Amino acid sequence: MAISEALLNYINGEWWMSKADEYLDVLNPASNYVLARVPLSAPAEVDQAAQAAESAFLDWRRTPAPDRIQYLFRLKTLLEEHLDELSRTITMENGKTMKEASGEMRRAIENVEVACGIPTMMQGAFSEDIARGVDEYMIRQPVGVCAIIAPFNFPGMIPFWFLPYALACGNTVIVKPSERTPITMQKVFRLLEEAGFPKGVVNMVNGGPDTVNAILDHPLIRAISFVGSTPVAKHIYSRSSANGKRVQAQGGAKNPVVILPDADMDLTSMIMADSAFGNAGQRCLAAAMAITVGEARHSFTEALAERAIARVVGNGLDEKVEMGPVITPKSKTRIEALIQRGAQDGASLVVDGRNALIKGFESGFFIRPTILQDVHPDSEFAQTEVFGPVLGMMHVESVDEAIRLVNSGKYGNMACLFTSSGAAARKFRYEVQAGNIGINIGVAAPMAFFPFSGWKESFFGTLHGQSHHAVEFYTQTKVVIERWLKEWSRKF
Ligand code: NAD
Repeated sequence: MAISEALLNYINGEWWMSKADEYLDVLNPASNYVLARVPLSAPAEVDQAAQAAESAFLDWRRTPAPDRIQYLFRLKTLLEEHLDELSRTITMENGKTMKEASGEMRRAIENVEVACGIPTMMQGAFSEDIARGVDEYMIRQPVGVCAIIAPFNFPGMIPFWFLPYALACGNTVIVKPSERTPITMQKVFRLLEEAGFPKGVVNMVNGGPDTVNAILDHPLIRAISFVGSTPVAKHIYSRSSANGKRVQAQGGAKNPVVILPDADMDLTSMIMADSAFGNAGQRCLAAAMAITVGEARHSFTEALAERAIARVVGNGLDEKVEMGPVITPKSKTRIEALIQRGAQDGASLVVDGRNALIKGFESGFFIRPTILQDVHPDSEFAQTEVFGPVLGMMHVESVDEAIRLVNSGKYGNMACLFTSSGAAARKFRYEVQAGNIGINIGVAAPMAFFPFSGWKESFFGTLHGQSHHAVEFYTQTKVVIERWLKEWSRKF
């Protein structure tokens, strides 16, 4: 892609230069180099996409499901063929390492594969003779035009928590990528085009909050799938619901991880370093707060500090690098200020990753892994999603106390436990108020054939992304009660 190229919208099977008054620079966070310019599209462009999607819906919903999934099979092949190129694009615009980026694209592909099972997943139910000669059945029909609004941190994967299911179920779709990482979807849409989806079935409109609000208010758009921060998720949920739309809105997180003294500390510290510092901590399933129990305090802290210091930070395109930069200069400033306030509120800085300078990438937005110990549960640091490579630590004396602390948090995206005790694991899994649980796992990311189950302030709605939840979200049920010839109703 040429330097500073203006990104396009994709509407009704054609690429359009936006009529936006304003464009934003898309930066490579490792170098601060401008990669492209993204338009903040106007409501009229959302309307153009919605009209196109509505017209395409008439025929797409009549296309038999086994035929619809042929497009997804082609898309899967194209995604596999372009995996390296897409991963490179993710690394350049997001900053994560190539290994992390290709792992992300694998997850995207996995969702396409699961959605190919739609002829079975979308089946209804049938009850014969609910009364003499009367049958009742339930069928699933697509909802109509659906919109997907994505965050910056997984530009390749997150739209795929929704897109393949929405399409396979017979809906038409508008994707609004993050304005900070929009280039990956630009490339994915070239592949959607190549896969041959009929005009108007998949559309993309770039933009920011005004573009999103135009989507939320558009009468032709029937369902909204959102992933992003909690304040925006709440806004999306309330505005879409007030407009009578279906909505699933996944929000932010502050994931606690409990470490018992009987855990394998070498393995635990390795997994925890990956969880807290992988993707530079910009992951909704990153470990954010380690809660050590009893003797685990010293052994775990020492082991983790060593790993934090040893982590190789730099440009994600370099194969030796284990952690890239954070997304923007604003984000770096915000994270460093939160570290400072955490320390002022009484936590001690075991490892301080601020003021990182990476040779050859002095203009990049780097923070090295950071660990704050003895964080007070009521402090701003403990309550705030940091979304950077920063792990807070707290200490308690029992599993019960740890579970109380976990459940006192406002988020419920993920909670993990490290132990060798089956009884402790069962208690934790049973009592903890979070939708994704890891036992000796640091990033409990559900496979595509399970729902992505956030709870509390991490999710607004009923049906989550991925798997059967997505199929239910993207279909509406219709119940039919049916009687035929009179002779069927009589007693023999
Ligand atoms: P964000 O909320 O800033 O932006 C997400 C989307 O919302 C973008 O497309 C953006 O254009 C739009 N948006 C932003 N402000 C808006 C406003 N005022 N009105 C309408 N639309 C608006 O999120 P982000 O910074 O891109 O992503 C990081 C956040 O996403 C973190 O909080 C992270 O935890 C969360 N996240 C959650 C999950 C999950 O599954 N729960 C997954 C990934 C990321």
